[in-house]
Amino acid sequence: MASPEILVVGGGLTGLRAAIAAHDRGAKVTVLTKVYAIRSHSGAAQGGINAALKNHPEGQDDSPERHAFDTIKGSDYLADQDAVETMTREAPHRIRELEAWGCPFSRFDDGYIAQRPFGGAGFPRTCFASDRTGHVILHTLYEQCIKRGIDFLEEWQMVALSRTPERVVGAIVLSRLTGALRALPADAVIMCTGGYGRIYGRSTNAIINTGSGMGIVYRSGVPMEDMEFVQFHPTSLVGTNILMTEGCRGEGGYLRNKNGDRFMFEYVTMDHPELAPRDIVARSIQTEINEGRGFEGGYVHLDLTHLGADHIMERLPGIRDICLQFAGLDPIEKPIPIQPGQHYSMGGIDVDPDCSCPHLPGLYAAGEAACISVHGANRLGGNSLLETVVFGKIAGDAAGEYVSAIGADNGAAGALGAELDWQGRRIDNLLSASGDQNAGQMRLQLKELMIDKVGIYRDGSALEEAVDEIRALRARFNDIRLTYRGLKYNLDLCRALELEHKLELAETIALGALHRAESRGGHYRVDFTERDDADWLHHTLAWREEDGSTRLDRKDVTITSYQPEERTY
Ligand SMILES: Cc1cc2nc3c(=O)[nH]c(=O)nc-3n(C[C@H](O)[C@H](O)[C@H](O)COP(=O)(O)OP(=O)(O)OC[C@H]3O[C@@H](n4cnc5c(N)ncnc54)[C@H](O)[C@@H]3O)c2cc1C
Repeated sequence: MASPEILVVGGGLTGLRAAIAAHDRGAKVTVLTKVYAIRSHSGAAQGGINAALKNHPEGQDDSPERHAFDTIKGSDYLADQDAVETMTREAPHRIRELEAWGCPFSRFDDGYIAQRPFGGAGFPRTCFASDRTGHVILHTLYEQCIKRGIDFLEEWQMVALSRTPERVVGAIVLSRLTGALRALPADAVIMCTGGYGRIYGRSTNAIINTGSGMGIVYRSGVPMEDMEFVQFHPTSLVGTNILMTEGCRGEGGYLRNKNGDRFMFEYVTMDHPELAPRDIVARSIQTEINEGRGFEGGYVHLDLTHLGADHIMERLPGIRDICLQFAGLDPIEKPIPIQPGQHYSMGGIDVDPDCSCPHLPGLYAAGEAACISVHGANRLGGNSLLETVVFGKIAGDAAGEYVSAIGADNGAAGALGAELDWQGRRIDNLLSASGDQNAGQMRLQLKELMIDKVGIYRDGSALEEAVDEIRALRARFNDIRLTYRGLKYNLDLCRALELEHKLELAETIALGALHRAESRGGHYRVDFTERDDADWLHHTLAWREEDGSTRLDRKDVTITSYQPEERTY
């Protein structure tokens, strides 16, 4: 295995865009991913990607500045405004670059890239490829990587970062196929490992979204930022919680309660109230359910029947397929039963707007694993795919510049060897442990407690219970026993390693939520229902102490042009 200068961890949109940028700066790049790159969760993204292209007649006044304002307002003023301005300014360039690379976007009759309305804008700004946007962008970027001859290590799982006191020196990686453990030297590591959705029950995320990249970095002494901010998507299919894209409402879909009423008119004053930001729509649906206006089983209807068969077949064919396969109903004829589901990790690895980590030279992070922070307390639909390509490139550029400037680190070999030994012992211990705790059951218990007690509506006493229960699970982890002890394709082992990270991240989420005594964006406290800028207009940093406990700290929000105002829609 040859040594890369830059190790990109993650083969989703962020990782691939970072790899292209670093390669184009002349660096020797390897992409490491625990599943085949094109199976990354990015490929499941349906609805679209935002950019102020002004291609729709209603969007003629759009601009990067308007896009920035909508994003900052949507974030409930917690986003760092310099980072948002970078993202919205770069957006049209990244979309045109994808177009030039052959990405098959849907188009208007005049040939320009089509745009649909998404939440928080009020007019069409979201570019899309039918309802398979992530899939086509992922394949476009993968082709560009292959064209450049970038190395891939697929089905290798990173288990630890290796560092000296001064900087990153590589990673410890496990082959899922053979169980081999290797130390991989690298001058810079870019974490593009995606979100932690599967810490929660009722998640729209793929089962690979465990947050282990964040957990690895957290363990290496780098803080997580804003972990209490979790996005619940308004519309996930009842039963499986597969996502029903915001594009359904963008194309004109309605939300109806069991009386057939479009209840969103009761909550916001917009013409198409279903397109309020996600935190507001998710809470409104949950309120309808809690107050008895939902259907038995806890859901409401997403109604597309008035859009007509042709429109649905052209713009939402994937949604129709999913409904037919997983709910046995055709949305052309019947409304879709939906409920809110965990969807996105606003928090993540604390990095600066150039994606470098201020706490550890050589470490970079971007995409859903990072908190840059462009989404603040609530992400707008279509801004995450945008974040991946904008900040993936920025991270690759910054890491490329860094590795061309640094010299050899003489302590690197020693640090890598020590970490390899340590991780080898950790894995041996797990394989030989004879405790009585079942990792699968613990995972289920974690998911249930997170959705029940750290969900859409939160209160102090339930959050305290959640913290205690997570700590109890962490203690039980010391007594787990794996059911399979071989080395080849031991997913029991791979997932147990990740469970340890999930438990630690869950504690940062629940503690952050308990600590933040206000309501802002996706974080809603029934015992502190107002936003409180005097005390809480700041980011939360969660540090891992030597003894494994969590210490909370604060970080300023960067405000450039937009002073916090009341957020009305
Ligand atoms: C169903 C769904 C639909 C969505 N639709 C939209 C949309 O329409 N518009 C929008 O803007 N956003 C959407 N999102 C959000 C968006 O898709 C994601 O936030 C984004 O794609 C994340 O990209 P990423 O590159 O950061 O991570 P991912 O695509 O999740 O990739 C993570 C990568 O890291 C690798 N990895 C993780 N841990 C390890 C490890 N320990 N070792 C090695 N490799 C590791 C994985 O193998 C994977 O390659 C959607 C999300 C979901 C779940």
